[in-house]
Amino acid sequence: MAYLIDGKRISQEIKDEVKLETAKLAEAGVKVTLAVIMVGDDPASAVYVGNKKKACAYTGIESLSYELPESTTEGELLALIDELNRRDDVNGILVQLPLPAHIDEQKVILAIDPDKDVDGFHPMNVGALMTGEAGFVSCTPAGIIELLKRSNVEIDGKNCVVVGRSNIVGKPMAILMLRENATVTICHSHTKNLREICKNADILIAAIGKPKFFDESYIKEGAVVIDVGIHRMENRKLCGDVDREAVESLVSAITPVPGGVGPMTIAMLMHNCVEAVRLKKAGRE
Ligand code: NDP
Repeated sequence: MAYLIDGKRISQEIKDEVKLETAKLAEAGVKVTLAVIMVGDDPASAVYVGNKKKACAYTGIESLSYELPESTTEGELLALIDELNRRDDVNGILVQLPLPAHIDEQKVILAIDPDKDVDGFHPMNVGALMTGEAGFVSCTPAGIIELLKRSNVEIDGKNCVVVGRSNIVGKPMAILMLRENATVTICHSHTKNLREICKNADILIAAIGKPKFFDESYIKEGAVVIDVGIHRMENRKLCGDVDREAVESLVSAITPVPGGVGPMTIAMLMHNCVEAVRLKKAGRE
């Protein structure tokens, strides 16, 4: 029977660690503050923002909420970011994506002070990840590393296959696994022989956004499988990119959906907010 990597428990552990840290900082007179900006009223974004605010309240992080109308111009949003960049009492700035079509997302990401970029999307943080310097790491891949480490999965020297190459998940994930001394292969929609490559993976990280795509024919016996995908099926149940029922008897460990990778993203966001205070103190060049 496969070991279920419990993202709910591990994310709770991380949030409790953050809570301790914020309490210590509070004793020293330091408040941790996250500004959360949402433009428009996309229902999924509203749920994500609500969950982030809840996690802030739990961990002792102050959250400032900016819920802007869909008609907000790019200039207005950039002006708000500029104001928050300058505010000494704001440690982290998060702009909930996607943004309405009339706003250039890349411009917005570039406008956020890299030292307050708790999502880890700014090219300066992406570059720091590449070169192994201090900086913010995108929350989902950072959460996956925590899941693996806290479940005692050995990474060093293992064959890791990451399927998906987005800037938010696949690419930073591959670099993080490389940093942990895995031998990493990145696959995408143009990859030939995807099945054969995946079948060689000791650790398979599936992040393609296709429900139940990976069945037993992609899995090596004893592999550890991390399922990043999250999809709502017609019966309203959630599923991942991996067909868990089909692979469960083969794998040694797997993340469930829900309750695997999902809860880790917000926990790592909270962790990054505290990290922002540390980076500020350390005075990153
Ligand atoms: P993107 O759509 O940005 O990227 C998908 C990637 O998968 C692309 O690189 C694409 O290749 C690749 N891909 C698509 N189809 C195939 C295929 N048939 N074979 C091989 N590769 C393929 O998605 P994200 O990275 O943002 O997210 C991936 C999944 O993870 C989604 O289901 C998303 O909902 C989920 N997610 C979950 C989070 C969580 O907290 N649990 C957080 C973030 C994402 P190409 O580049 O060639 O187009």
